[in-house]
Amino acid sequence: MNLPPLAELHLHIEGTLEPELIMELAARNGVDLPWGGLEELREQYRFEDLQSFLDLYYANMAVLQRREDFAEMTRAYLERARQAGVRHAEIMVDPQAHLHRGVDLATSIGGVADVLARSEQDYGISTVLIAAFLRDHPVEEAQQVLEDLLAMGAPIDAVGLDSAEVDNPPEKFVALYDRARAAGLRLVAHAGEEGPCSYVSQALDLLRVDRVDHGVRCLEDDALVRRLVAEQVPLTVCPLSNVRLRGVASLEEHPITEMLRLGLNVSVNSDDPAYFGGYVDENFRCLAEEFDLTRADIAALAANSFRGSFAEPRRREEMLALIRRWEEGEAPTP
Ligand SMILES: [Zn+2]
Repeated sequence: MNLPPLAELHLHIEGTLEPELIMELAARNGVDLPWGGLEELREQYRFEDLQSFLDLYYANMAVLQRREDFAEMTRAYLERARQAGVRHAEIMVDPQAHLHRGVDLATSIGGVADVLARSEQDYGISTVLIAAFLRDHPVEEAQQVLEDLLAMGAPIDAVGLDSAEVDNPPEKFVALYDRARAAGLRLVAHAGEEGPCSYVSQALDLLRVDRVDHGVRCLEDDALVRRLVAEQVPLTVCPLSNVRLRGVASLEEHPITEMLRLGLNVSVNSDDPAYFGGYVDENFRCLAEEFDLTRADIAALAANSFRGSFAEPRRREEMLALIRRWEEGEAPTP
């Protein structure tokens, strides 16, 4: 599918671990996985909800042992993202999840950052690194990890909040976000995926985030929608993820086109593409087929992805100009 330049804003690098790479790393690192082979692993990819996905996602992380493993996973994503038309990517890593299984920050963050440092030269993709914290673990633990990241001068640009959302509201993490803001980091948080729309308001009012990941449940509150439109808060929507985790019953019922018509700043993202049936181009292809998206719709979604990004202003303007040319029917220059 012919797409304009895209920014991917909602992407967990551990969620790009393809089954083949998982088996390869397991063999290389001598990690015993609970399934016998590739086919048995593939059979695990049927999820009931967010938690059933998270169980598999955390189990598969066991294969990531060395700094080079993290680098290899990151290179595989960037290569695939380049083919999808991604020109800017804001990549989340879950350092806490790796610490829990004895892998230190230099290995996890360092392995990803090694590759991101050269992503523009090597893949034509400018990148931003987001350290995401696990909302289903104590805030004190997240605060300690953030202090450690800052003390080691880790090349992170932003912090995020992910993992099991229900009963883990943003309000628990105010001190963490205050500290990150004081350290000059940008702020994002998952909210309104499985959790209620009040979590979106909390993320804005209490955590003072620059952007909300998912946010689709905002539609349950008209006043919140009016606010999100007025403030043009970026919402990083992940259609195939929502279908796989049963946040919506089918793609046909996905509200993304309604969100676009309402004037919300929505973009299309792949979340954990190895688990949810496709990278960002596949998300666009499925949406375009389901909703007969026009060239103007696709251009609007692509433009929103750059407007919602932390890309350098020059990079952003350059890409927005290419998107306008694409919309007018001219092929963007590579
Ligand atoms: Zn996510």
